[in-house]
Amino acid sequence: MNYHRYYPVDVVNGTGTRCTLFVAGCLHQCKGCYNKSTWKIDSGKPFTQVIENQIITDLQDQRIVRQGLSLSGGDPLHPQNVAAILQLVKRIKLECPDKDIWLWTGYTLDQLTANQRAVVNYLDVIVDGKFIQALHEPNLLWRGSHNQVIHKLA
Ligand code: SF4
Repeated sequence: MNYHRYYPVDVVNGTGTRCTLFVAGCLHQCKGCYNKSTWKIDSGKPFTQVIENQIITDLQDQRIVRQGLSLSGGDPLHPQNVAAILQLVKRIKLECPDKDIWLWTGYTLDQLTANQRAVVNYLDVIVDGKFIQALHEPNLLWRGSHNQVIHKLA
């Protein structure tokens, strides 16, 4: 998996202070996408063990307490991202059990394959669905268009 940006301290992608990772790769091609540069699966930089370890360290940091991790992109549930994302979310629930995990995907819940659903088992919140420009509203919280749904899973 590749990623574009990692913010160790973020307050705009989900509730509370969080770590946020924007991964590479998205197949949805939504018109009006705000993040087109992330579409190519081989764009960005390799998501290495070093970055994975850094996320765990940041989530365990007692000086700046984070509520959890946000996963966005691109699409963290792009079929080629699923293995790395699954490994990451499993580690977080094991090593940082008090942290929550939010994930944004262009798939709707009912479109997910069994592999993608395996990731969902470890999530606290998933925001699903493509961005639809005609349904865009700038003041929506944590989503870009009305069709997208914030599912609280835990
Ligand atoms: S799912 Fe998100 S990143 Fe992918 S094309 Fe749509 S708006 Fe862009």
